[in-house]
Amino acid sequence: RDLSLPSGQEENIQVFVRLRPLNDKEIARNDVSDWECINNNTIIFKNTLPERSMFPAAYSFDRVFGYDSPTKKLYEEGVKEVSLSVVSGINSSIFAYGQTSSGKTYTMRGITEYAVSDIYNYVEKHKEREFVLKFSAMEIYNESVRDLLISDTNPLRLLDDPERGTVVERLTEETLRDKSHMEELLAICEAQRQIGETSLNETSSRSHQILRLTIESSAREYIGADKSTTLTATVNFVDLAGSERASQAVSAGVRLKEGSHINRSLLTLGKVVRKLSKGKNAHIPYRDSKLTRILQNSLGGNARTAIICTMSPARSQIEQSRNTLLFASCAK
Ligand code: ADP
Ligand code: MG
Repeated sequence: RDLSLPSGQEENIQVFVRLRPLNDKEIARNDVSDWECINNNTIIFKNTLPERSMFPAAYSFDRVFGYDSPTKKLYEEGVKEVSLSVVSGINSSIFAYGQTSSGKTYTMRGITEYAVSDIYNYVEKHKEREFVLKFSAMEIYNESVRDLLISDTNPLRLLDDPERGTVVERLTEETLRDKSHMEELLAICEAQRQIGETSLNETSSRSHQILRLTIESSAREYIGADKSTTLTATVNFVDLAGSERASQAVSAGVRLKEGSHINRSLLTLGKVVRKLSKGKNAHIPYRDSKLTRILQNSLGGNARTAIICTMSPARSQIEQSRNTLLFASCAK
């Protein structure tokens, strides 16, 4: 086990909220902004509304980021430590959670880029170790997993490996030559995702994307260090399906057709995160969905997790924004 766990972040699940600016559509219909980050930790509902008495006006998290905070700030002050733990052998997952068009993809793209850049800077600076970086990418749509690095859309099976846990059978894993190779692969994923989107309606609001970077490192012999101390860890960048896919199913207990609205992976992730945040001895239902099975080794246990909850500030989105804040509160 690696002992160089960054200090100051004792908790394994960090929860962040990011408010985006009102978008053009919202402005065009005279929507108003209801939420404001009043300091680094607290977001408040700033207007008076009759419904307001129905829910708390202030919510606190590890960090909150207002509409004028760039992704760089969110990365530096929030998820950087979590994503960089991979170089010292600690698994981690970074999630973007929120309703469709709240800013998940926008946020994850920036974060992935900054994290990859920092990981490569770290590798450059630590010549005493030898690093091997591998990249894979997948999409989960209707509990079916597909490879985002190749154009084959056949579903991939999950297998239980006694040593590695759940593995995705035949998933492409590219050994990275350098940072620009990684950028090429990210562009391929983007293209694959868009192909899926045009053939199936609204795929991006219903599917989860996992970008996975695995880093192996070992001491170089001439340092005199023990060559056997190989560290292997994975960081997962997860752009989740729109959270309305979970809340529609939960609200009022309406029975909806499986696959049409209910998103099993999203619901299960919620259960897993809630159980993890409650602590020790609970049974964690990882096996109830593809997403949580795939991420099991990088979620809970010694792994580090950051959940970025993105939300629209608009009055018209109040229900979904509240649901997002409730999810975020439960994850703490
Ligand atoms: P989601 O992935 O949650 O559906 P997107 O990331 O696609 O949402 O964001 C929807 C739109 O809002 C995009 O056009 C995106 O560029 C814009 N957007 C999202 N977050 C921000 C932000 N923090 N600042 C500026 N524009 C944003
Ligand atoms: Mg998106």
